Amino acid sequence: MKNIIFWSLLFLSSVQCQSQTISKMSDFIPEVVKEESQWLDELGSEKFRILREKGTEYPHTGKYNKHFKEGTYSCSGCGAELFKSSSKFDAHCGWPSFDKEVKEGAITEIRDISGGMVRTEILCTKCGGHLGHVFEDGPTETNLRYCVNSLSLSFDSIDE
Ligand SMILES: [Zn+2]
Repeated sequence: MKNIIFWSLLFLSSVQCQSQTISKMSDFIPEVVKEESQWLDELGSEKFRILREKGTEYPHTGKYNKHFKEGTYSCSGCGAELFKSSSKFDAHCGWPSFDKEVKEGAITEIRDISGGMVRTEILCTKCGGHLGHVFEDGPTETNLRYCVNSLSLSFDSIDE
């Protein structure tokens, strides 16, 4: 019982940190809009499969999974800032994991019922690129675990 109260409080305290949420893709008009053929040209087939076709990279293969330098992670599709390194943690799940977005609204959430699961997909608000999913089982005070494909990210070190 004590545990339930503890987790409920954690959940309530996380409500202040909310992404923009939409219920269906047709409600969402990103700032950056391109033809899919243009995205394919610019991104190459590997990133295109993740960002534009909602693919998932194999766990433990991404270049930012075990990457803990100080800096900022941006969308590899459009360059919009998404996460600070200070919000990154090792979730041991095989993908880069963060506990909050860089600023409110940088990430858009949408309900995802593909694959027989109910999950919350996360998109770059600026270009609509698929990033991964967010789960409410994070180990920090936000209770959130943004689970992101490395291929959806680019990284700028703080001393560059
Ligand atoms: Zn983007």
